[in-house]
Amino acid sequence: MTKKLTIGPLTLGGTSPVRVESMLKIPLSRRDECLAQCISLHEEGCELIRAAYPSSELRGDLEWLTARSPLPLMADIHFDPVLALEALGAGVPALRINPGNMPSGKLREVVRSAGERGAVIRIGANGGSLSSRQLAEAGGVRSDALVLAVEEQLRRLLDEGFERIILSAKSTSLPETVRANALLAARHPEFPFHIGITEAGFGLDGIVKSAAGLALLLSQGIGSSLRVSLTEPPEEEVRTGYSLLRALELRSRGATIISCPTCGRKRIDVKALLLRLAPVLKELPDGMTVAVMGCEVNGPREARDADMGVAGSASGAVIFSRGKVLRETSLDDLPALFAELGREFGSKNAISDRQFMKGDEKHYGCKS
Ligand code: SF4
Repeated sequence: MTKKLTIGPLTLGGTSPVRVESMLKIPLSRRDECLAQCISLHEEGCELIRAAYPSSELRGDLEWLTARSPLPLMADIHFDPVLALEALGAGVPALRINPGNMPSGKLREVVRSAGERGAVIRIGANGGSLSSRQLAEAGGVRSDALVLAVEEQLRRLLDEGFERIILSAKSTSLPETVRANALLAARHPEFPFHIGITEAGFGLDGIVKSAAGLALLLSQGIGSSLRVSLTEPPEEEVRTGYSLLRALELRSRGATIISCPTCGRKRIDVKALLLRLAPVLKELPDGMTVAVMGCEVNGPREARDADMGVAGSASGAVIFSRGKVLRETSLDDLPALFAELGREFGSKNAISDRQFMKGDEKHYGCKS
């Protein structure tokens, strides 16, 4: 198991659930918009937000936002130690830096300041910034070069006696990212990993690429935090992250929706009903499983895991729970009925992430 770190009020690694991160997509100088984005992301369940801090001119803005954000901030610095020291002075509990390019004396100052403040440092390598030397030393194998690049940075921090470290190795290539992370996790199992497929794209392709890569890593127990990196609003990154973690049964945030693909037996338009129910489904309690199925012949049985479900019938629809049909209902009554049953479920079945993870599958996300 990795060591557990604290970032402000947040724990990361160890037995903590896989954390969901995103990044501010607005310059820090637009203070009010940045704060609004932090609040909006917090409401979506984002737990840590990275913010680019590229210039000393933004120091006042960073300090202002750090004091008001409902989420802990990680300042994204790259290699300028002056900016790293300023960000720590502004109160951020976490930095992302590239210590490879920092002079030793300056890095020592950054590490000392981070240590005094209990801050965390994320280091890592990106496929796009590998040097020709690193590629040559790795024999041209890009995933090996990523490992080499991360280990060079890690060694510099460890040599300074700093261990509150998060590692990351990212690339736009999914196989390259997965292999590099697997190699690193085998060699450094004590450090929490932040995982993601960088610049995964947008829309369906971006989501599939991110989900495929992240799932491969999470299923090996690699990843204490993740970011779904999309060319979309950051809230979409967070929603996708939770959707993935829910599918892998690693986090319980939000309800799980089961719906059938429909076939010639369908009695209702399942897609239209899902769209109509969407506002209610969004508000259902964490950990609840809800089904919308096309017919009463197979629906209740196929969705027997559902806490509550509806299936089309000759006279409208039937409501069922855990495979058992309870009664007939009219489609018009469904939104109110789902809302009521959701409230009932929520009052009796508060569920934690740990309870949500099922039996033998608990190895997901908790490498030991
Ligand atoms: S639940 Fe009914 S309509 Fe839906 S796929 Fe199964 S058999 Fe077809």
